[in-house]
Amino acid sequence: MGETHEARANIGVVGLAVMGSNLARNLASRAGNTVAVYNRSPEKTRTLVADHPEAGFIASESVEDFVDSLSKPRTAIIMVQAGAGTDAVIDQLSDLFEEGDIIVDGGNANFHDTIRREGAAKKRGLNFVGAGISGGEEGALKGPSIMPGGSAEAYATLGPILASIAAVAEGEPCVTHVGTDGAGHFVKMIHNGIEYADMQLIAESYDLLRRVAGHDPEAIADVFAQWNEGDLESYLIEITAEVLRQKDAETEKPLVDVILDQAGSKGTGVWTVQNALGLGVPVGGIAEAVFARSVSAKPGQRAAVRGAITWRPDIQKPSSSFEDDVRAALYASKVVAYAQGFDAIIAGAQEYGWDINKGDIAKIWRGGCIIRAQFLNRIVEAYDANPDIATLLEDPYFARAVTDGEDAWRRIVATAALSGIPIPGFASALSYYDALASERLPAALVQAQRDFFGAHTYRRTDKKGVFHTLWSGDRSEVQISAE
Ligand code: NAP
Repeated sequence: MGETHEARANIGVVGLAVMGSNLARNLASRAGNTVAVYNRSPEKTRTLVADHPEAGFIASESVEDFVDSLSKPRTAIIMVQAGAGTDAVIDQLSDLFEEGDIIVDGGNANFHDTIRREGAAKKRGLNFVGAGISGGEEGALKGPSIMPGGSAEAYATLGPILASIAAVAEGEPCVTHVGTDGAGHFVKMIHNGIEYADMQLIAESYDLLRRVAGHDPEAIADVFAQWNEGDLESYLIEITAEVLRQKDAETEKPLVDVILDQAGSKGTGVWTVQNALGLGVPVGGIAEAVFARSVSAKPGQRAAVRGAITWRPDIQKPSSSFEDDVRAALYASKVVAYAQGFDAIIAGAQEYGWDINKGDIAKIWRGGCIIRAQFLNRIVEAYDANPDIATLLEDPYFARAVTDGEDAWRRIVATAALSGIPIPGFASALSYYDALASERLPAALVQAQRDFFGAHTYRRTDKKGVFHTLWSGDRSEVQISAE
């Protein structure tokens, strides 16, 4: 290493920690790829090259040598710490890259940063592609789901390389050109938000099976394994069964019983909710999942409330159909969470001018990523049948799936409430569904309240125009505008 390289590599990877080294190995294992690698600290590069001679990596210990080793248009995937680390590497590459070269950020960047970085790169004649990559370490090595943004020109070079390493579902690689600039990282963010919601709903199902049905983790693992044979089949259900079977070596207890019940997060769920709030999209399922983790991580408040109360409700007796009811509630709530996630994608696309094909997004999530599931085929079909559907809940398949499970869903929410078991995901999904399904909402009263204290005006059901009641006067109504 260290010598000047002949430009032989068609693709390079910068950042050789867990994700970058696995992605580089994945790239090297595909026919036609010669992979250049570089990491700020050379030890990581040396270890990777020594451990994987079969990969035929072209390794460099300086950015200059790395850039020299790439054939044109130079294409480099950055897999470094999101934030300042990514900016530092982009600056280094931008100084050495030439017009038409392609910088890909495969890290978990905030899509606002990606929009900024893409704009700056474009001014220098460079292509910048923010690519969301899901699937963790194993996905990076064996085939992730990839969500690239950036220009169509960059995708023409990059697309086939990404297709060569992506997971394959139903014969198709799990990668598509999501849209321009930050579209890829935006969709990756929503993917992670949906992941939060899905995990929370599974956790609530577990809690109910444990506390109401009285099953032990092993028995619940069997229930999840059985559910994984049906329409809930998914990676998250599958790993949940495995997790629940795991015993702690030290205590021989179920591992889940010795893990501290305070959930952490790395921030993409929070980003999803923050952005959805800005876009005016209700993503209650994702928000409740984020909040549920926050509540869990407040041991002081939890202890304070437990210390302040003297009574807790009795756990209700499970009905004979309890397991099936939980399964139905989980499925219906999951439909709601995905419908909300896709609503956020639609709103983001409108706001930022991205031409996002919703069916293609569902397709590339069918393999490689954490939310991969059979269920996504139904979403592909729904958008194939009608790309302009108002909500996934309008699609005939999903409408029926939800109404078929509706009684069970209500029984589960009621049982949990009467038993004092928190089910923020199930309950908020049901309320969201009931809000959409209601003929009239109490929003009319909210509008009147707003008009009372803030003269915010209201519209009427029976005629056009904007109105205000003179609340502090004679309470007559005045018309503010005709339209
Ligand atoms: P990481 O721990 O996030 O980052 C470590 C890497 O960043 C090292 O290669 C480090 O180089 C490099 N780095 C940090 N600051 C730098 C700087 N100022 N200049 C140059 N290099 C710098 O690594 P990771 O877990 O492999 O993740 C890489 C990216 O993929 C992140 O954006 C992460 O969010 C994203 N991602 C991770 C997962 C996952 O499951 N882990 C999944 C999807 C996406 P040194 O070795 O020199 O310190």
